[in-house]
Amino acid sequence: LHKSRYEPLTARALPGRLASLKSMGEHLGPATSWRVREVGDGNLNLVFIVESDSGSLVIKQALPYARVVGESWPMSLDRTFFEYHALTRLLARDPGRLPALIHFDEEQAYLVMEHLHPHIILRKALTGNIRLPHLGEHLGRYLGRTLFRGSDLSMNTAERKSDLALFSRNVELAGITEDLFFTDPFMTHPRNQHTPGLEDYARAAREDMDLKLAARSLKAKFCNCAETLLHGDLHTGSIMVTETDSRVIDAEFAVYGPMGFDIGSLLGNFWLAFFAQKGHHPDDVARDRGGWILEVIETIWESFFDEFSALWRRERTGILGGREFFEDAQRPLGSEIALQQLLKQIWQDTLGFAGIEMHRRILGLAHAAELETIANVEERAACERKSLMMGRVLAANRAALPDIRSVNRMAASMN
Ligand code: ADP
Ligand code: MG
Ligand code: MG
Ligand code: MG
Repeated sequence: LHKSRYEPLTARALPGRLASLKSMGEHLGPATSWRVREVGDGNLNLVFIVESDSGSLVIKQALPYARVVGESWPMSLDRTFFEYHALTRLLARDPGRLPALIHFDEEQAYLVMEHLHPHIILRKALTGNIRLPHLGEHLGRYLGRTLFRGSDLSMNTAERKSDLALFSRNVELAGITEDLFFTDPFMTHPRNQHTPGLEDYARAAREDMDLKLAARSLKAKFCNCAETLLHGDLHTGSIMVTETDSRVIDAEFAVYGPMGFDIGSLLGNFWLAFFAQKGHHPDDVARDRGGWILEVIETIWESFFDEFSALWRRERTGILGGREFFEDAQRPLGSEIALQQLLKQIWQDTLGFAGIEMHRRILGLAHAAELETIANVEERAACERKSLMMGRVLAANRAALPDIRSVNRMAASMN
């Protein structure tokens, strides 16, 4: 019987166990000089920062269970394999927007990667006072590039089918999304949790036929529509920032799915951060910060739209290229209409997924720090009620909302 030699790392054991890794030595010098601390704050994995006088690196290792729940929720270790493969592809599609990859150990289920510093998690930045002037552009361009380049618009048949097959094996995490994102929040489930005072809203969500129909059809889209390689967990806790840089981390949920899923997950979290402002700041500051967050949302969508459109016109070399088909050099009209049709579909999907994300972060298992850190329970519940109302409009009326400005105007008026 094959027995895995996998063993979780500890801060104390790490230098001994990784001392012989050439890439570690090159960055950090001899293992005897390494200083190690565990910093994982996520739901699933161990994360260590290893420092020496010559540099620092991050080690991320899977545990055989979900950290957020404990050993009672066993989980396979192969999520690191999928994070490794996703990271290499996303880095190639938008170079510099994710941490550089140094090493992958499949048996021990860990990645060695660039230590992002002095970056902080975007969730923290969104409840603080700093402004990030390039954030919207960075994230919009990232979405345009990765979603376009992971799709049939860019990839050839052999590459595309082989990646589809590879990521289709990421079943455990895909299954978590199917349940936790699309189903649990709209039914009674022991994993669900919510702020006291939201009982009526939780019951309303369970009894709301139109909302549940939206959740069902969006779930079907997530499961059936293998449009591109998604990050799969793109919330504001999966982004690290400084005033000038923005990086995407934590791609272990990568699967093929609809383009709007990554965009909607991300924008849903930004709208949650928008509605959280009054729980963190006095009214005038909250209005100012909230206005900035809505501007970032608008820039993300518009930068995505522009980047995706530019790649469509210049880089459409894949299965769905269609250059000859439309003869676009002479008559670009056909391909321009096809682009607008696709963008309209992505827009509606984006709103739908955002609306479901806003429910699952308030009524489901995993919540958003922007709201969780509001200490006053009544204030938190007030912010969450508005978020749920907005989320419902997005999910149930996604076909009727024309553009990002009118959606943001609606958010402002609901606040
Ligand atoms: P999980 O899958 O458990 O959510 P994450 O990849 O989100 O793990 O990492 C958890 C935390 O570890 C992040 O919130 C961040 O604080 C830290 N972290 C992860 N990767 C890096 C990195 N490359 N550089 C700096 N900090 C990191
Ligand atoms: Mg994470
Ligand atoms: Mg993760
Ligand atoms: Mg909560």
